[in-house]
Amino acid sequence: MVRERLKNEVQKMQGEFLGFRPGLVVLQVGDRDDSNLYISMKLKAAAEIGINANHVRLPKSTTEDEVLSIITSINENLSVHGLIVQLPLDSLQPINSERVTNAVAPHKDVDGLTSVNAGKLSRGDMGDCFIPCTPNGCMELIRQTGVSVAGKHAVVIGRSKIVGAPMHDLLLWNHATVTTCHSKTRDLPTQVGRADILVVGAGRAEMVRGEWVKEGAVVIDCGINHLPDETRAGGKRVVGDVHYPSAQQRAAFITPVPGGVGPMTVAMLMENTVQSAWRLLKKRTSR
Ligand code: NDP
Repeated sequence: MVRERLKNEVQKMQGEFLGFRPGLVVLQVGDRDDSNLYISMKLKAAAEIGINANHVRLPKSTTEDEVLSIITSINENLSVHGLIVQLPLDSLQPINSERVTNAVAPHKDVDGLTSVNAGKLSRGDMGDCFIPCTPNGCMELIRQTGVSVAGKHAVVIGRSKIVGAPMHDLLLWNHATVTTCHSKTRDLPTQVGRADILVVGAGRAEMVRGEWVKEGAVVIDCGINHLPDETRAGGKRVVGDVHYPSAQQRAAFITPVPGGVGPMTVAMLMENTVQSAWRLLKKRTSR
């Protein structure tokens, strides 16, 4: 649904601005298998939508200064509207990933991970920032349930920069009352039981049990974990942070893993890239 809409928008751009295409760069250091898989999904989605996506892969020997210098040149490239650094960095050199993510120009930061964009989101300036793709995708999935967020009690498990913390901000500024839990939270089952809307991003396989979940809750599971399973090709299966079979009995709506938050995260990256391109085009035409 989202991808179809974006494809139409890109076609509209091409019609109005003579073949113009939004440009995205995915910058990778090293060669992790999981990163390669995520990048291939992003490139495939971009191609389907009509975004011009380039994968820049640097060797593991790349230094922090070299990464920063490449980011600077991509920041200055006018045909690029979105730049993401695939994390984690797989480098043999000491690289400060915070410094690297913050080197991306905020107006091209379609992952929403720079301090500038995170700060704007935390203050509720949502029209003026890029929202990180996973929480943005979770909000889209919540929206698609038709359940209104305002006034609801939302519980987020996890407070990372990429999932939990921006999810908290998004729910808050969509007028939920939000509790954010982390590894030091006491009595997690009781906290979870208060949630009308539950978003889980802890990285703990099937940690949230069905009996913790409030009857009728909306449950969004960001987790991607691997459990050994000899019946599967590759000897493992992917599960979320929620025990799906039991939680499904109580939730009004629950996202599966795989197939729920993951594909929506990719769609939101495309959404941010198209939005970034529109911002540039509007600036150009208002001059
Ligand atoms: P992090 O490891 O950075 O953060 C995990 C968070 O969960 C931390 O805040 C941690 O608390 C909290 N936590 C860990 N254990 C517990 C526990 N037992 N009880 C309560 N809180 C706990 O992970 P990410 O945020 O990067 O990712 C979370 C999950 O989401 C992972 O499974 C990841 O693979 C998945 N993910 C999925 C994406 C997608 O596209 N679908 C994209 C990004 C991530 P504390 O801060 O105290 O350490």
